[in-house]
Amino acid sequence: MFIGDGMSVPTLAAARTLLGQRNDRPGEEAKLSFEKFPTAGLSKTYCVDQQIADSACSATAYLCGVKANEGTIGVTAAVERRDCAASLRPDARLDSIAAWALADGRDAGIVTTTRVTHASPAGVFAKIANRDWENDDSVRRAGHDPARCPDIAQQLVHEKPGNQFKVILGGGRREFLSQGTLDEEGGAGLRTDGRNLIEEWQQDKRARNASQRYVWNRSQLLAAQADPPDYLLGLFEPSHMQYHLEADPATEPTLAEMTETAIRLLSRNERGFFLFVEGGRIDHAHHDNYAELALDETIELSEAVARAATLLPERDSLLVVTADHAHVMAFNGYTGRGSDILGVSDSRDRDQVPYMTLSYTNGPGHRAQPDGRRADVTAEPDFRALHWRSHVEVPLSSETHGGDDVAVFARGPQHALFSGVYEQSQLPHLMGYAACLGPGARACPASAAPPAAAPLLLLLALLNLAHRL
Ligand SMILES: [Zn+2]
Repeated sequence: MFIGDGMSVPTLAAARTLLGQRNDRPGEEAKLSFEKFPTAGLSKTYCVDQQIADSACSATAYLCGVKANEGTIGVTAAVERRDCAASLRPDARLDSIAAWALADGRDAGIVTTTRVTHASPAGVFAKIANRDWENDDSVRRAGHDPARCPDIAQQLVHEKPGNQFKVILGGGRREFLSQGTLDEEGGAGLRTDGRNLIEEWQQDKRARNASQRYVWNRSQLLAAQADPPDYLLGLFEPSHMQYHLEADPATEPTLAEMTETAIRLLSRNERGFFLFVEGGRIDHAHHDNYAELALDETIELSEAVARAATLLPERDSLLVVTADHAHVMAFNGYTGRGSDILGVSDSRDRDQVPYMTLSYTNGPGHRAQPDGRRADVTAEPDFRALHWRSHVEVPLSSETHGGDDVAVFARGPQHALFSGVYEQSQLPHLMGYAACLGPGARACPASAAPPAAAPLLLLLALLNLAHRL
């Protein structure tokens, strides 16, 4: 399963156009890798208490199959955000599709460009009342006991299903290390319990007599790909990984490279696997009104999907690509075919001031309009720099998510199930049905015993008996 965090439909349209233009084409006719998949559908992303989703309640929906409250992960809507006690009630705790896969003897793993403890990847393993509780200090500062409500990093290393994941790749070393401890690149830990969860992860695997490796840079990752251990943990940054356009390619792997490593490692299990891959920084770029970075991160996700599609046979591997929620970037104006997607519109506003083809409804890119006229953003000294913000209507410190539906693309067994317009929480049930996992396994198409036929035969036998009597 591939998630583009915040990868709205306008983001897809703009990113494919940028991809085409980078290949010296007009651009609009280009396709992202997953836009070539045979099935597309739309997922409705609202959460139980919010019209517009955050990445926590949406992760609970698309990984655990149940809609939840904003800010909560792996627990039902009976749990309000920050309610530690409610999150401990057994009937409120949900299993993700990764847990379903592990229960069936398959393997599981996560790959992300954010911290591995961030909301989307946490949906694969965590059960927590607040997405911000990534380390023990944040739990304690909220007035709770981390021994009772363990932080997300602790859950990943020591609790099921996270402690069974064969591969964990992304950023977020600081959540695993204590204050006063520096990581390999000089980043400081955030924990206050004095623990080193990277070492504890290694000890846990050693105690199982399994081979393990912790890697923190690209060359170590590629070495691990050539000679894979049983368990692989890769943490490449103290916090999120760098934007692809700003990363040092010598030390930081691409999303496609991490995806390939994970697939090669997990493919050793003949029963199969569930892998979660997130392009997590599309969302961050949008929050800052950095349109070019958001589109480039989308193209990186497309590259990762393309890599997976070459490594995994279509006949037995289901690939599902979607987003958790939309954003409020607009792709607007009547500019000519093949115009620079990151450029100004052919037309001007009513005051003859230029405007961008890509702009935002809200966010930090608001410009003052003292004389009632929009500012001419093309005259700004950093116009079109990577950290130049497109213009916006409503001034906010951070651009918001959007409430529109997001696209779902599917390839492989049962791909046609993913057409139509449906609730986001339906996704893991469809994947589970296709893969014979979780609640859907009872009726799944490939299940060993023919489950649909058996009750029918019994009924016929009873009818036959009744007829004779
Ligand atoms: Zn966001």
